[in-house]
Amino acid sequence: MPSNNKAKLPAYKFSLSKQKSRVLPYGDAKQATVKEFPVSKSIAGVLMNLKPGGLRELHWHANAAEWGFVISGNVKTTIIDPEGRYEENFFEAGDIWYFPKGHGHSIEGLSPDGTSFMLVFDNGAFSEFATFSITDWLAHTPKDIVAKNLRVNKEMLKGLPKGEAYIVHAKEQDRKKSLKAQNSPPYTHKYRLLSQEPYRKTEGGTLWIASSREFPISTTMSGGVLDLKPGAVRELHWHPNADEWVYVLSGKVKLTSFASSGLASESELGEGDIGFTPMGYGHSLQNIGSGDCKMLVVFNSGIYEEISLSTWLASNPGQLVADNLNLPIDVVRKFSEKQLFIIK
Ligand code: MN
Ligand code: MN
Repeated sequence: MPSNNKAKLPAYKFSLSKQKSRVLPYGDAKQATVKEFPVSKSIAGVLMNLKPGGLRELHWHANAAEWGFVISGNVKTTIIDPEGRYEENFFEAGDIWYFPKGHGHSIEGLSPDGTSFMLVFDNGAFSEFATFSITDWLAHTPKDIVAKNLRVNKEMLKGLPKGEAYIVHAKEQDRKKSLKAQNSPPYTHKYRLLSQEPYRKTEGGTLWIASSREFPISTTMSGGVLDLKPGAVRELHWHPNADEWVYVLSGKVKLTSFASSGLASESELGEGDIGFTPMGYGHSLQNIGSGDCKMLVVFNSGIYEEISLSTWLASNPGQLVADNLNLPIDVVRKFSEKQLFIIK
């Protein structure tokens, strides 16, 4: 039955920019987990700034993989996998990383300006009781065990923080000198997203995507950047296999969402806003600002899948489409015969 009951749908928009930051001397962070943004059960985000020497300490996430996009500045990460292989990587704006669930890592802002980046997790509840920091762990373990494990005397460990440090100050190391001899994993954790050929480029805009096809370690998430020109529409489509999480880096965009059963919603997202589209929901994105609109788009599947309205209709007999939509065949013949993707 057709109806238009917007009240039945939850909010698909969340204003991260209005959230309070956790501020420390060498960095700050604000987050949108399922607690702040209830509809986003499967995906969470953290916007973090690190000053030069600001180190997001050694930690792991028990229930989520981490996908990071560098918005500005310079960053270094370290990561270890269960086979004892490790990697140290340097990132610049437009680069991404992927850390599999449970793998220990650290993130450090570098000179001259530090860094700003967005972290996206494939579990809305990644934060509470599921992020394990090394200082928190050692502070809550009997001192004799810690000392025995580190093979030093207890007295030598007086400097250990009494609880989670979260962001500490690290002395910057020479960039060219790796701290350790490399023991690289088979797949790198780094991908230079915006240095690659886009996934699609039309007159209306561009989409860069890194799925596990381009970035093999990224097995549970895909993500990229969507750039829409003023007025352009990322056409009506859906993703059969994943939820979609969008973060507006700049500009203004309208997200339409179709939830079946006559339920639909529209959300206007500005800079610093997050949008969410559940798996399978029909949706579109239109640039409603005067300049370009640049967004992060992240999916909770390593395989990127989509079906667009234009290709779906073009794949069906014209008469079938005409009869289904109650339109003259001449009108249906004007429809696009190939995928439009982004419409100027
Ligand atoms: Mn992390
Ligand atoms: Mn989409």
